[in-house]
Amino acid sequence: MSKINEIEQNIQNLKDPTTNLAFHEYKAIKHVGIDEENDTVVFVIEVKEKTPEVIKQLTRDIAKIVKLQMGYKGIKVDFVQGKSANSKSKTILVASGKGGVGKSTVTANLAYALMRLNKRVAIIDADVYGANMPKILNATEHTIMGNQDGKLYPFEKDGIQMISTEYLVDKNRALMLRGPMLNKVLKLFFEDTIWNGEIDYFIVDLPPGTGDVMMDLKDFCNDPKMILVTTPQANAAHIAIKAGYAAKDLNQEVIGVVENMSYYEVNGEKHYIFGKNGGKQVADELLVELLAQLPIVPSDNSVYTESDIAGIQYLNLAHKIVKLIK
Ligand code: ADP
Repeated sequence: MSKINEIEQNIQNLKDPTTNLAFHEYKAIKHVGIDEENDTVVFVIEVKEKTPEVIKQLTRDIAKIVKLQMGYKGIKVDFVQGKSANSKSKTILVASGKGGVGKSTVTANLAYALMRLNKRVAIIDADVYGANMPKILNATEHTIMGNQDGKLYPFEKDGIQMISTEYLVDKNRALMLRGPMLNKVLKLFFEDTIWNGEIDYFIVDLPPGTGDVMMDLKDFCNDPKMILVTTPQANAAHIAIKAGYAAKDLNQEVIGVVENMSYYEVNGEKHYIFGKNGGKQVADELLVELLAQLPIVPSDNSVYTESDIAGIQYLNLAHKIVKLIK
């Protein structure tokens, strides 16, 4: 075993005093290095709350092991505050191959359904090219508040918290972000947003297609699970399959497919206007479950109530997702 591995192993059972979670449980150890010249071990450790008490206690705990037990002369620990320190939260990524298939609608309704199952939910609208979560939640007039440390407060409605790239740009202008800037936005949402209380599920509305966002997400959340939204049409399914494979290439687990706008129901009869097999085809190809087939809802309101047929279907979907990502 290398020296670095040995050090890592020896401190991995230390616990963040705020959450009582062990370092290994939330991948707290971000870096370990040895400054041979000074016989000093340098660390970057993630904690939930970077308070003087936490710093003092963990520095002492680490010193005890690394200096007293292992015999190094010194330690230097940088503490960073981070989202994954809150490891009980689960992250659901909502992705699609192309735009307009209902990815944002699914995100919002899934959030409501999970909330109805008594889960605490936050939406991260990371669809940097077409963020529309504020519109769906009737929150376009909201102005996002920040504090002196550059932290943001999310919008909150019906117990659902939400933050969106829409709040970071001028109204009516698309946000074009690439590379490092995009990473900064994600960091802002995942690490520098002061969420109200513990969150059970973060639901991330991804931009259509694949790419930058998905790669960057790995830096910010533990083990996110992806659902793929498609419509029944062959061309949508084809692109969804591509997006699914791209996700898999990035080691991103896809847990299921949601087919949206599957049928239109008139007098109890289902009409499959856009064809019948798109969702199933995507699910079969990616070897995952077709989690839901959601109806076309002729309504201006994008968030369905509990008693709507679509609302009930979202509850079923939420149940399945809760089970799948236990
Ligand atoms: P995406 O996020 O994939 O671009 P949206 O969720 O913004 O897609 O949906 C695109 C449009 O389709 C919106 O106007 C939305 O209200 C509508 N829509 C989405 N799902 C349905 C549905 N099941 N029935 C009817 N209209 C829908």
